[in-house]
Amino acid sequence: MLSWTNSRRFGHRLLSATLRCRQCSRPAGDLVGFADRTLSEARFLPLDTGFMPHNLAGELRCGRCAGQLFIDDIEPLGRSVPLDEAGGIPFARILGEREGAGTAA
Ligand SMILES: [Zn+2]
Repeated sequence: MLSWTNSRRFGHRLLSATLRCRQCSRPAGDLVGFADRTLSEARFLPLDTGFMPHNLAGELRCGRCAGQLFIDDIEPLGRSVPLDEAGGIPFARILGEREGAGTAA
């Protein structure tokens, strides 16, 4: 599964990254999250909601060509804001995980 590879060196910093397709190299959207948290706690800002990534048997796939997605261009953001202000949607929803505890899926 995807993760903030090698990002722990950033400590508790807000990172942004691009979710990109290995096959068509199109970006699916941006991820914003804290380096010391899991990706399922990150926010996903889709570039085109008509081509949302989807989880296929545990792998995240491109909404256009079903190619495998990977995380590209991880960089720390200069500011630190509450994740809710980053906008987008919970990445957990893309990963197909349940959000929070006890809430409806
Ligand atoms: Zn693709």
